[in-house]
Amino acid sequence: MSTKKGQINVKTENIFPIIKKFLYSEHEIFLRELISNAVDATQKLKALSRLGEFKGELGDLTIEVILDAKAKTLTIKDKGIGMNAEEIGKYINQIAFSGAEEFVEKFKGKSQDEVSAIIGHFGLGFYSAFMVSDKVEIHTKTYREGDNEGAVQWECDGSPNYILKDLKAGHERGTSVILHLNDDSKEFLEEHRILGLLKKYCKFLPVPIQFGMEKTHVKKEGEKDKDGNDIYEEVETQRIINNTNPAWIRKPSELTEEDYATFYHELYPMNWEEPLFHIHLNVDYPFTLTGILYFPKLTERFGIQKDKIQLYCNQVFVTDSVEGIVPDFLTLLHGVLDSPDIPLNVSRSYLQSDAEVKKISSHITKKVADKLEEIFKNNREDFEKKWDDVKAFIEYGMFSDEKFYERGEKFALVKNIEGKYFTLSEYKEKVKETQKDKHGKVIYLYTTHPKEQHAFVETAKERGYDVLVMDGILDQHFLNHLEMKEQMSFQRVDANVIDKLIEKEDAMPSKLSDEEKDKLKPLFEKTVEDQHLTVLFESMSEKEMPALITRPEFMRRMKELQQLSGGGFGMHMPDAMNLIINVNHPLISNILNEKDETQQTRLVKQVIDLSLLSQGLLSGESLTNFIKRSVDLIE
Ligand code: ADP
Repeated sequence: MSTKKGQINVKTENIFPIIKKFLYSEHEIFLRELISNAVDATQKLKALSRLGEFKGELGDLTIEVILDAKAKTLTIKDKGIGMNAEEIGKYINQIAFSGAEEFVEKFKGKSQDEVSAIIGHFGLGFYSAFMVSDKVEIHTKTYREGDNEGAVQWECDGSPNYILKDLKAGHERGTSVILHLNDDSKEFLEEHRILGLLKKYCKFLPVPIQFGMEKTHVKKEGEKDKDGNDIYEEVETQRIINNTNPAWIRKPSELTEEDYATFYHELYPMNWEEPLFHIHLNVDYPFTLTGILYFPKLTERFGIQKDKIQLYCNQVFVTDSVEGIVPDFLTLLHGVLDSPDIPLNVSRSYLQSDAEVKKISSHITKKVADKLEEIFKNNREDFEKKWDDVKAFIEYGMFSDEKFYERGEKFALVKNIEGKYFTLSEYKEKVKETQKDKHGKVIYLYTTHPKEQHAFVETAKERGYDVLVMDGILDQHFLNHLEMKEQMSFQRVDANVIDKLIEKEDAMPSKLSDEEKDKLKPLFEKTVEDQHLTVLFESMSEKEMPALITRPEFMRRMKELQQLSGGGFGMHMPDAMNLIINVNHPLISNILNEKDETQQTRLVKQVIDLSLLSQGLLSGESLTNFIKRSVDLIE
């Protein structure tokens, strides 16, 4: 064959301006596309060799990425199946553009992300090279022995015209794609930029990728320094970018716990935390999916990080945005998913409605539930140890996903003030008699802050009641959900006096008559400075405080809800609090019987301040006044 000129078969005028213009934001993907092609060509050759179709030596199949800053070229060189002139004609000059017209139609009005997704979809992968190149050359020789055509060279300068010519003999099997980078793409002449891209997209490709050299220290065999220490020398070796056999494609039975931990750090070199546990996914029917998901430890410092799961398609990195593919609560996990069956070339909104994707999503949810249940059943002690770290995921999952709720019911735990863990049904069983009120309703008590609500927790404990600790970020939500799903009724320990929270038949009689209470009421009401404090009377035991501050459950939750939804209508709901006077306390009778009005007011103030103080609500001037008054009273 002599040199042949031709026109790339593209019915639409010219695709290059489109490629250049519309893929602007994602120029870097050209490298992923070209290396993927090189990997495909190599994998095909291996397959042909296994089938006996190719009888030659495979040799070293490492793909080389070669940067020549002086010549302004970047070369991707593989030793795969290669192409002959006819195949170039078929695969490069025509097929690649078979979808071009459709492509042009589709890109209209689409976002950049969608356009770059479409590119892969229409087999324009190779042509993404023109986003960054003035000219692209392909030097290639097919694997077929006895194919006398020899090696061929194709080149194209970004116009629809190409040149095809023979290469001189002696060319090796495989394909080199040589990019003559354009002036706007100088960044790709920098070693660290290419290295970064290779690390991002190619870290786990199945064929070794070599780029540049790296320095390592190796021990000199049989040589010691004068103190008898080993001697190391610095040697330059070829830098291999990828791990061709990442943990997720290996059999779980071959892997140790340590392998999983090592792989975690391979995925997230910047993250020092150890994951809590992992789930190895391996599905081949009705779709193909492999991967490893990790439950990370949520740290104060990092908080909840989304976008940590990396999505691969046959070991090629695609994205770290898995929204729509896994349910929202699982986007908090870390790890990898690899599936050729996830349609990556469509928009996110389409993904969410796609039936296949839904199947994948619910399968992942099921696997996560299986694993949690397995740990719970086989090693409850370990599960309890991890509970505080994983409960946010599980609670989130349970109130956002009905199916997961049904599974989670079996292993979701609650922790009580003694630090003991119970499943929901165990806990219901535990308190079903002791915390039943006079109407037969079981009241579940909880605290959101054991320290601040200490006095109330203690009173509940004195009655023999149990108190749950609900101090996690999602606990309050979870509790609301439980009330709805399980008809459980929760009251925070400070929502009312304990005997009102759980009302029993034998109510404590009041030592004061209604008239006496009517006399007391204005005394307190006029002294209460905070207008949101409502004065109420209760008969409690003499041993309890003369007065208590409580926060009614319903009002408090309303306020929390409002805060969560960002304030709402610019209004700010006040803290609804009650000042509950213990009519049976001797101090209250003293106040009632006090003839000296000044002394009476002082005592009232003192009682109110004491109740505020026990809630940490006294500060500033009020606190100073309280201290002065206390000193006076003691004197
Ligand atoms: P796709 O890879 O999606 O099919 P491309 O435009 O990237 O689309 O490539 C078109 C075709 O060109 C490939 O299907 C393949 O047959 C051929 N090809 C591309 N790169 C190589 C290569 N490095 N070695 C052998 N064949 C290749």
